[in-house]
Amino acid sequence: GPPLLEVRDLVKHHGRVRAVDGVSFAIKAGETVGLVGESGCGKSTLGRAIMGLAPLTGGEVRLDGQVISDLPYAQVRPLRKRMQMVFQDPYASLNPRRTVGTIIEEPLKVHGLGSAKARRAQVLELMARVGLPADAASRFPHEFSGGQRQRVGIARALALNPALIVADEPVSALDVSVQAQVINLMVRLQKEMGLSYLFISHDLAVVHYIADRILVMYLGKIVEMSDRDRVWKQPLHPYTAGLLAAHPSPDPESAHAPRLRIEGDMPSPTAPPPGCRFHTRCPFKVELCTTEEPALRPLPDGRTVACHLVTVAADGTAHSPTEGG
Ligand code: SF4
Ligand code: MG
Repeated sequence: GPPLLEVRDLVKHHGRVRAVDGVSFAIKAGETVGLVGESGCGKSTLGRAIMGLAPLTGGEVRLDGQVISDLPYAQVRPLRKRMQMVFQDPYASLNPRRTVGTIIEEPLKVHGLGSAKARRAQVLELMARVGLPADAASRFPHEFSGGQRQRVGIARALALNPALIVADEPVSALDVSVQAQVINLMVRLQKEMGLSYLFISHDLAVVHYIADRILVMYLGKIVEMSDRDRVWKQPLHPYTAGLLAAHPSPDPESAHAPRLRIEGDMPSPTAPPPGCRFHTRCPFKVELCTTEEPALRPLPDGRTVACHLVTVAADGTAHSPTEGG
């Protein structure tokens, strides 16, 4: 059958800002896809566009093979139950004047599901599932720590029994020790409920920890798609090598991966550079890179990359310009 989620050539511009400029990928049922890139690369905009929180400039989003991005709201609403979002800042996304129980119940109420009594029972079950104490229902978000507030956000997202959760930097606002707890919770919930995740983060280590596959985004485009292990051990795109180098203490698994210090800032998405969008920061750039945009090429080893200088040897192995020689 079709993948759970399919994004085809998605474009999302805000005025002159070309936030997302032609992104395609799919997520299978039960899969976690990590989306990584530095702040401002368009990854949050992509997540919101997939969720239907903003109209697309171009392209389409399919859920179970059905195009949902151009359906009228009344038709898309029941389908949207299958997709929920978890946000970076659980406090900002939780109404401070509502109790935790009311917050978690809200999606059930909005969709008219169950009697008041049944909904209350379901709220208690959701709270237990995410590790919140039963007395949390009558308390307010400010009474909880950041990690517990994110558990509230996750419980609310789970209320409608979704197939897909788009989580936008769900642990970035939390202390490192709490990050691991929330990620482990998400992993457990995925196994228990058969969820798929689009897990968005600027942190390659976090994405590597949770994702089956990783998409690397730069200035509105995907530059590399790969399985988690090879992104960590043998990044192909110079930008991916740069993200890896940002981690000061690599684990032994990635000790031999090419590392690249990337200088400078990402150019403005209102005026992306011609050719390869990364050429203004790439130490390997050649003349071609400044004039011709590299296509996102599928490689024989299953990976996909957009770089003119990635080569494929006669035996099918791919080589990155970062390998030197
Ligand atoms: Fe660098 Fe050229 Fe590859 Fe772009 S296409 S990443 S500029 S080598
Ligand atoms: Mg963001």
